[in-house]
Amino acid sequence: MKVNLSLNPTEEAQTLNLNQIFDLAIIGSGAAGYSAAIYARRYSLNTIVIGADHGGIITETNLVENYPGFKEISGQELMNRFKEHARRYEAKFLDDSIESISKEDKIYLLKSQGGKIIKAKSVILATGTKRRKLNALGEEKFRNKGVSYCAICDGAFYKDKVVGVVGGGDGAASSAVQLTQYASKVYMFVRSKLRAEPYWQNLLKKEDKIEILTGVEIAEIFGNDKVEGVKLNNGQIIGLNGLFIDIGSVPNSELAKQIGVETNEQGFIVVNKNMETNMPGVYAAGDVTDSLPRFKQVVVSAAQGAIAANSAYHFFKEERIK
Ligand SMILES: Cc1cc2nc3c(=O)[nH]c(=O)nc-3n(C[C@H](O)[C@H](O)[C@H](O)COP(=O)(O)OP(=O)(O)OC[C@H]3O[C@@H](n4cnc5c(N)ncnc54)[C@H](O)[C@@H]3O)c2cc1C
Repeated sequence: MKVNLSLNPTEEAQTLNLNQIFDLAIIGSGAAGYSAAIYARRYSLNTIVIGADHGGIITETNLVENYPGFKEISGQELMNRFKEHARRYEAKFLDDSIESISKEDKIYLLKSQGGKIIKAKSVILATGTKRRKLNALGEEKFRNKGVSYCAICDGAFYKDKVVGVVGGGDGAASSAVQLTQYASKVYMFVRSKLRAEPYWQNLLKKEDKIEILTGVEIAEIFGNDKVEGVKLNNGQIIGLNGLFIDIGSVPNSELAKQIGVETNEQGFIVVNKNMETNMPGVYAAGDVTDSLPRFKQVVVSAAQGAIAANSAYHFFKEERIK
């Protein structure tokens, strides 16, 4: 296959012919989307990746230490490498956001914010999630400076430090337990009462390092350059080095709903083990899916992107579409 690594995004946009009907349109330019593009192109599917922002949510973290093959790499650099790898196989890219999706005969029509229409015979939805925000004072200011949304990812930076977890569900409980591996003390700030499953509640009880404060809300996150503590709505001040906000994430699944793709109660796209949705020719991969709800990681999204592309390939191979 001819390799072309020389195109920059502007040149790419200029050489993009949108009159054609693509075999596969991948919506989302994060780990799942890029990985799907690599595999799809190796299966010779004429593939376009449409992404609202390059690299997705992992670009928000400066240090990834658990992606195989890279002992330490920034999220941005890791995604640059994913994209470059997909470009090597001549996947097409469009930097734009898809606003609507419809189906005419057997063709999916994707309309972008920039007014483009992309036509494709199959679609992979790799649109990820957005974190549910606490909307507390100081949250934005201290983001990545002590405020984190991912204990699995950032917990190790808090060895022998005091941290807090906001939330009372399974996610928050699992984050608190996870953080005891590193931190000297873990506060849990729960707005009403603990909603975590009995399994998690038992684990929480066994951990001496964990102190659960119920019926409290974070009024303010304060510090100078980094988080130094929180002020609660009851006026209590608690000194902290880090605050993990774990009050759930919201899937970007509006497009899926538009075309009748099934989502679960929380809005995550329902997929089977082949990353197939309930609609023929529509696949989903990565954080936006209902698969592995407790384990949203780059390596998982990348694997699911590859599986989705493989399923799209079989969709064509079995000639269910002409
Ligand atoms: C702070 C933080 C640190 C993390 N650290 C780690 C770590 O160290 N290791 C690890 O393995 N995981 C980590 N994770 C988890 C990891 O980032 C995710 O699991 C993974 O990046 C998800 O990839 P994805 O492709 O499924 O979704 P995303 O990365 O969310 O990508 C989705 C993409 O789709 C785009 N999109 C959405 N809607 C549309 C639309 N309508 N049209 C076009 N594009 C659209 C978005 O703009 C985005 O680019 C971390 C997460 C966070 C929040």
